[in-house]
Amino acid sequence: MKIFLATNNMDKRNEFNELLNKVDVELVYPEQFGKTSEIEESGINLEENALIKARWGAKFSGLPSLADDTGLEVQALQGAPGVYSARYAGNQASYQDNVRKLLKQMEKLEGEDRTAQFRTVLCFYIPGHHNPYLFQGVVKGIIVKNPTGDNGFGYDPVFVPRGSTLTFAQMSLGEKNNYSHRSMAINNFKNWFKQVDLYTIDN
Ligand code: IMP
Repeated sequence: MKIFLATNNMDKRNEFNELLNKVDVELVYPEQFGKTSEIEESGINLEENALIKARWGAKFSGLPSLADDTGLEVQALQGAPGVYSARYAGNQASYQDNVRKLLKQMEKLEGEDRTAQFRTVLCFYIPGHHNPYLFQGVVKGIIVKNPTGDNGFGYDPVFVPRGSTLTFAQMSLGEKNNYSHRSMAINNFKNWFKQVDLYTIDN
């Protein structure tokens, strides 16, 4: 079965490919339908943005669509950068700009005050259906003071998940997937997907 993956972010695609490789689905991408830019993420939370992206994909591809929206939520910053994680340091901000701003905002925080979590909301939307299906993955950890490691993307160089001493950027993709928010959300989706019949599912 073909599933449309509503993202142009290659870093996310790699993780989806790795995590869905044992499931009998073929992922297809926006550019295969002539779309090279993503729809604006105008939602006020991760759930709304995931739904906006999945619905957008289902609409023009005519295929069941998956989209993820992810945020880094820092307790001491009242959940920021959260839904604004991609644009924390401005609309055109790079991964490094966002990390720099985060470290600046947290420079006076120590110990437990550096607690944070990554949260992924995954939305699966079937064209013509009314109800979307939402899956979540959360991983708690701390934000370290100095970016470390060359793997991964985004805030990976400053995030150490609970149970490890390494940042996500110091881990291989396989190791990151043992802990990560995205792998938890995708596993929740996979467990549901394996036991559902999309042709008779209630809409
Ligand atoms: P979005 O889900 O595309 O809105 O992602 C928001 C931002 O969160 C991205 O631009 C990255 O900076 C960050 N992000 C998302 N997923 C991850 C991850 O797995 N590790 C580190 N940063 C991430």
